[in-house]
Amino acid sequence: MKYDTLRETDPTVAEFLKAERVRQDDTLAMIASENHVSESVMEAQSSELTNNYAEGYPGERYYGGCEYADEIEQLAIDRAKELWGADHVNVQPHSGSQANMGVYLAMLEPGDKILSLDLTHGGHLSHGHPANFAGQVYDVEQYEIDPETGYVDYEGLHETAEKFEPDIIVSGYSAYPREVNFERIQATADAVDAYHIADIAHITGLVAASVHESPVGVADFVTGSTHKTIRAGRGGIIMCGEEYIADVDSAVFPGAQGGPAMHNIAGKAVGFGEALDPSFDEYAEQTVANAKALGDRLQEHGLDLVSGGTDTHLVLVDLRPSHPDTTGKEVETTLEGAGIVLNANTVPGETRSPFNPSGIRIGTPALTTRGFDEEACREVADLIYDVIDAPEYEAVMADVSARVNELTDEYPLYN
Ligand SMILES: *Cc1c(COP(=O)(O)O)cnc(C)c1O
Repeated sequence: MKYDTLRETDPTVAEFLKAERVRQDDTLAMIASENHVSESVMEAQSSELTNNYAEGYPGERYYGGCEYADEIEQLAIDRAKELWGADHVNVQPHSGSQANMGVYLAMLEPGDKILSLDLTHGGHLSHGHPANFAGQVYDVEQYEIDPETGYVDYEGLHETAEKFEPDIIVSGYSAYPREVNFERIQATADAVDAYHIADIAHITGLVAASVHESPVGVADFVTGSTHKTIRAGRGGIIMCGEEYIADVDSAVFPGAQGGPAMHNIAGKAVGFGEALDPSFDEYAEQTVANAKALGDRLQEHGLDLVSGGTDTHLVLVDLRPSHPDTTGKEVETTLEGAGIVLNANTVPGETRSPFNPSGIRIGTPALTTRGFDEEACREVADLIYDVIDAPEYEAVMADVSARVNELTDEYPLYN
């Protein structure tokens, strides 16, 4: 049994871990950044490599005892190169945020200029929000989503870039349902002589499976998280061309981090290996098909989707047109009570506070891992709608909970 040793030595923690396992099994994880990694990835992440200090890079470590760490990190690198077609990959960033930090440290001086998408329009904290170090150390200007179309305002981005003259333009987002036109943003970066980071944290898996355009070979730097759609060990990754290898590697270590989390790098190697199997391409395609089916169904119920639909693994619902008195936070809380876990999200042109915004973000990566198809996702859309629209919460909630239980039994998570 899992956690047998832990149950003897620390039953309190063991109980919580078991409860978390049951929670994941019994609920529908629809937070768009989440996924369920395989048991193999989890085994790698809980391996003895957690004990190893491997400061440095394969073949050039500061300590002894790294022969297997070298093999594993090199495997993770080689598999990542194959997956995304990059010249160089650094697999050491502890998270996607640290990956972005690595590129900033490599290419910018304090006070240099970053142009990125506004957080409330779907950007990420690490793209220069004032609460994040990037917003404190660098001079940040932001571009936006076109309120009419729900797509990135590429023209506005270009105009802002000409005026602001950024050193780096950041593309890639946390709550954007549409395919990103990386080439168009690269053209702007070229026009104003800026570097371009494409942060594909959310869509790593979609890019690897070629269901989303790839920025590799287009943008100067590609960063990402490794635990979202790519479904590997938790952490971050940086890809770049040959000319930036030395700067990027020394910015990650020793610039931003100490020893790499070798157990997580083992989890990255295993997850990347799984993603190289042709079945992963089917998974990524199904993830997008499921998001489309879910979005279509929500629209049939009269809900408003930002941009009118999706090309990716997520939909962003703007509740204001259909349910002006309902907030995203209320929906998030009520749905969680019924076993559907998603998050309240700001929408472009937000009129409420970020803590109680007007939208919800709904993702399909984790459900697709469990085996959900379009039909099952349409049913989940019905359940979500029922809760959003329920005038009598209690009766509807009981129904929705019962249906979620049936679905989670029908699509079990781990055996
Ligand atoms: C998730 C995310 C990140 C990184 O998140 P971590 O939690 O630090 O791994 C970076 N950029 C974007 C756009 C993201 O969505």
